[in-house]
Amino acid sequence: MNIKKFDYFIFDLDGTFWNYPSLIEGSEEVYKRLIEMGKKVLFVSNFTYLDRDGIVKIFKRNGIDAEKNQIITSGYVASVLLKGKKVFPIGDGLKSELKKNGIKVGDEDVDAVVVGHDVNYNYKKATKALKLLLEGSEFYTTAIGRVWIFKDEIVPGTGLIFSGLEFCSGKKAIMLGKPSNFMVETLKKMINDGKVIYFGDEAYADMEFAKKAGFYSVFVRSGVDKNIKKVKANLVLDSLKDLLKFLE
Ligand SMILES: [Mg+2]
Repeated sequence: MNIKKFDYFIFDLDGTFWNYPSLIEGSEEVYKRLIEMGKKVLFVSNFTYLDRDGIVKIFKRNGIDAEKNQIITSGYVASVLLKGKKVFPIGDGLKSELKKNGIKVGDEDVDAVVVGHDVNYNYKKATKALKLLLEGSEFYTTAIGRVWIFKDEIVPGTGLIFSGLEFCSGKKAIMLGKPSNFMVETLKKMINDGKVIYFGDEAYADMEFAKKAGFYSVFVRSGVDKNIKKVKANLVLDSLKDLLKFLE
């Protein structure tokens, strides 16, 4: 496989490009090499702990000079989809992303409850969200993750929040992040003609996403899913570091 023939290189963040807030070994070299080669590089993530400006800042701190418009998060997708609606967001990163994209936020008379990653989630917020859901609000989540690696520690993912609210409200959340069609469609609008290669570490969120989008898929074993038996990918790498030899 001639990897150099691809025009767009798209990376997942957690477990693929970084283990927040540090880059995975090889990511910086890969990014710089691709830019040097004139390739278009994009990032697609269900990460909502920070907004996209926050991601740009972390990138800069790690030597990656990327722009906000190279990044699509499920929080950004929420702001595209919920244009004109009032939202109760769970999580500061999500809240900030929505506000920066012109979405009204509040905790009364809202059209939708949207779950993001919230390390300050508490009983009070859960009670508020439940009330809104029972009153008829739409219900969305930006991720379904069970676990997240935060500063080398395994912590609960966004699944902790939305699944609890599903249980209590009896309502099912609509998934906005990968591998949803909302994410595929938002990304496709940012891609002009060209061949696309996609890198991710999750069998479901990433490989299913690549398949739906029709991208050439690369599974990296640097993240949460180590078992490759169930993975359907075009290529498997131990980590992005192994991509360097394809780019020589
Ligand atoms: Mg990942």
